[in-house]
Amino acid sequence: MPPKRKRGATVKAASSKAKSIKASGGDEDGDEDNAADDDTTHAGVGGPKKKKMKMKNDEQNQQPTPTTKEDETTTKTEHTCTPPPPPKTCPYLSFVNRPLLDFDFEKRCSVSFAKENCYCCLTCGHFFAGRGPKTPAYTHALERENHFVFMHLENGRAFCLPDNYEIFDASLEDVRKVLFPRFTSEEIKRLEKEAIWSKALDGTEYLVGVVGLNRVENAKGVNSIVQSLARVEKLRAHFLSASLIRSDGNNNNKNENDTLQSLCQRIWNKHNFRGHTSPDSFVRKLRKQIKLAHPEKLETDIDNLFNDPFATLRHFLTFVVPKKYVDELFRGELLMLNQKNKTQPFVFVPLKLPDAPLFRDVMEKNAIPQVALAELLKPFALKTAPEYLILAFVNRFSKNQFTKEVSKNPTIVTFPVKNLKIQASSAAGSNSNSNPFSYDLLANVDSAGKATVKHVDGNWYETNDLFVNEVLAQQVTLGETYVQIYKRVASP
Ligand SMILES: [Zn+2]
Repeated sequence: MPPKRKRGATVKAASSKAKSIKASGGDEDGDEDNAADDDTTHAGVGGPKKKKMKMKNDEQNQQPTPTTKEDETTTKTEHTCTPPPPPKTCPYLSFVNRPLLDFDFEKRCSVSFAKENCYCCLTCGHFFAGRGPKTPAYTHALERENHFVFMHLENGRAFCLPDNYEIFDASLEDVRKVLFPRFTSEEIKRLEKEAIWSKALDGTEYLVGVVGLNRVENAKGVNSIVQSLARVEKLRAHFLSASLIRSDGNNNNKNENDTLQSLCQRIWNKHNFRGHTSPDSFVRKLRKQIKLAHPEKLETDIDNLFNDPFATLRHFLTFVVPKKYVDELFRGELLMLNQKNKTQPFVFVPLKLPDAPLFRDVMEKNAIPQVALAELLKPFALKTAPEYLILAFVNRFSKNQFTKEVSKNPTIVTFPVKNLKIQASSAAGSNSNSNPFSYDLLANVDSAGKATVKHVDGNWYETNDLFVNEVLAQQVTLGETYVQIYKRVASP
């Protein structure tokens, strides 16, 4: 028999305005599900203990997790009593508390740390494994008042626990749209042309595609590079269109939120409950991958890597962005005019800033040197021009090999926001009047890790972790540029 509800819950539920389209699930189904979830029990004897969902240092805390089975794959078990049929409507939908729902973080049971078969309690937002008797989710529903509605994190199916019947209700669709951002090809095309404003639950408006990213410790470079790469239309379209391959709710599918693809989808999701999102699980995964591949690397080395936008960019181009897109979008070939016309393939063009002056000038101030980008590009001609040109000012930061101190080159680079000209190799060294390649700026990351990006409507936004501000085009060129992404607009 299903356990009895707490008194308070029933009284409140009677007044709820929950609306339901249809209810389903038979006696036998309900019992099968219970049996299935018996296998996924992790709480153990004595009941589950509450733990904070956003775990820090979870690598150390992680316990071995028992294997789990999906509810649907188990065989029928015997039962001696017949539970009553599930109600036609779920009376507890009014306890769904959307402001507490956050699917950006690692999807792991907050009690057993299991990753499989997890549900989100839609009242408190915590994640729990299983839904059969003795599972953390089931126990949570019994222990807490009004925590009855749960959503499966991999397929979006909703259940009322501990009664264990499936809820079919259109009012939960908005939650699914946050859990599984999806984009049709029409929507992707619209996002390419139109600035779309959306409203967060707290009433604030946010610009879809230019949302703030939570600050994750020692990952300053990740936020700025993610914001910059999200401007590359073809890469973005690839990430957004991949959302349609996902499960339609009938079959389980992993919904990883720790990939660049998932982060990109959340940045461009107009159904978000908040005007910002978190790269937390993505950064965790990046760090784990490095530790696996290079166990000898120190934590501080990994911190340095992801704090530095240029080092992060190189890591992304090697390990994160699909190789097909790196080759198709960023790969080009340079003709080195000052090196006997040697050719050099590249995915970014490394540019060297002139050395900063060592001595103070007569005004007792360090003169801040300036250099034009065109000057730095003079020794190069493009043999193969990529669609998106990445420029990196590689000696913006340098490390003294004896003292290990990092120093910054303060040189200001002057650059155009539109029509950056780069000569074609066919015209190099000759008096040919052929037109150069022409590029428009899409994103500019400065030495402080702020990324200023051009939105689809042509407006510029400065992003600094959670903060996003509109700026004028002429403000983009101020500051110490470090990494830039341009888009080709004209070829010879
Ligand atoms: Zn709860």
